Amino acid sequence: MSFKAPNKKNFSIAFRLSFLYASVFAISLFLMFFVLSYLVYEHLSTTKDEWILEESIEVEHIFKERGSYEEIQNLMEAEAQFAGTINVFYCMRNREGEPIVFSDPTHFEALFQSKENFPWTKEKGKFFETTSLGNQTYRVYYLPLPSGEVIQHAVSLNESNLFMEHILKLFTTIYIIAALIYWAFGFLMVKYTLRPVLVMSKIAREFSIKNLDKRIPVLDADDELSSLAITLNEMLDRIKLLLEEMNMMNDNLAHDLRTLVSRIRVNTEVSLLEKRSPQEYRAILGNSLEECDHLINLLNTLLDISEVEAGILFTEREELDLDKLVTKTIEVFRDIESYRNIAIFYEKNSDFMICGHFKKLQEVLINLLDNAFKYTKSGGSITITVKLAQPNYVSIQIQDTGIGIPEEAKPNIFKRFFRADEARTLSGSGLGLSLSKAIIEAHNGSIEVESQINKGSTFKILLPLFRE
Ligand code: ADP
Repeated sequence: MSFKAPNKKNFSIAFRLSFLYASVFAISLFLMFFVLSYLVYEHLSTTKDEWILEESIEVEHIFKERGSYEEIQNLMEAEAQFAGTINVFYCMRNREGEPIVFSDPTHFEALFQSKENFPWTKEKGKFFETTSLGNQTYRVYYLPLPSGEVIQHAVSLNESNLFMEHILKLFTTIYIIAALIYWAFGFLMVKYTLRPVLVMSKIAREFSIKNLDKRIPVLDADDELSSLAITLNEMLDRIKLLLEEMNMMNDNLAHDLRTLVSRIRVNTEVSLLEKRSPQEYRAILGNSLEECDHLINLLNTLLDISEVEAGILFTEREELDLDKLVTKTIEVFRDIESYRNIAIFYEKNSDFMICGHFKKLQEVLINLLDNAFKYTKSGGSITITVKLAQPNYVSIQIQDTGIGIPEEAKPNIFKRFFRADEARTLSGSGLGLSLSKAIIEAHNGSIEVESQINKGSTFKILLPLFRE
């Protein structure tokens, strides 16, 4: 497996976030400017068209009333002068498009010369058009008169186009400046907001096996970063605990292995010191074999715990009758029962079915009963009770009248290799309860203990009931 080193060329979160925000802002601003420009343009066009229409109708009206080309000529010149001959042009043409009367055409030469839309036909009616001739753009209105002439009223769009261009330039400048300011401010703000993250990563870097007490400072604020700091600190607490447990386990394992190997070595050494009889050799070898078995058992139990914790049991489950499991396990202890003069009582309330691994669950019961026998004096008793605990859960209690567990030892008895001082004189490896806990948890259950010194201990297992 290979891990990729982080790409140094990648931009920081602050850069990316502020860039993203600035882009969203820029797009919104662009849309706003676009809509605004369009509305301004539309307004200008409509106002212009309305004015053209009004003026043309006035010319038509006067012509109808007075019918004199001369009057219209004067009117057109006066109106064009008033609005500016650079902006407005009037022309009355005959059907062929020949100009009859018109205002100053100097600035509308191309339109004046053009006979587009002529000769005139009735079907054309009155209409507006936007046309470009030479480097000029015009808005032109054609209004046919009943007498056959056509009034052509044109307005130059150059000025309003220039105005729109000006507005667009202004908008673009404001747009670029605003986006840059927004991006720069955004960058600084995000950088400031993410400052605690840098502190967190610095602390995480400093956290090491030699420095397990480093913690992230939690700011006095009820925000996401404070909650992240609290979560990370909790994680660091768990890592510290785990590392301490691992260290303790390594020490204990090393200690146990050294003791067992030393015993085998001493046995061998003693056998080599002098010549012995075959019986003596046999006894020494038998001793060594026992120590080897002990060693193998210890290693096997450790491997079993790892296997169970890795979830190996999930694939091998079956429907089990709990009563059968308990009865069969009690059978294993019948001989010890009479030999140690300790009575086993079994109380069951009804039949319960569970889903699990028969052999592994039996291993748990054997461990607990074995401990109960080991830590109970002759004449004592062991009671096993099976009953419904909570809806969908069955409880199995193993209660003894033994030596009990000291209060300070209780939190540790499920840890690997832990043995209370009172237990050290008896045989054992300190692994039975850790294996039992791992098996029960792999069955989605739980195990806990209640105990009183010199009165006895009760181990309580909760297991989910079988459901189809
Ligand atoms: P061991 O091989 O030492 O019995 P376990 O993991 O089974 O290892 O148990 C861990 C420790 O818990 C024991 O060493 C003992 O101190 C304590 N313990 C377990 N069961 C009992 C019990 N029934 N009564 C008293 N102490 C117990």
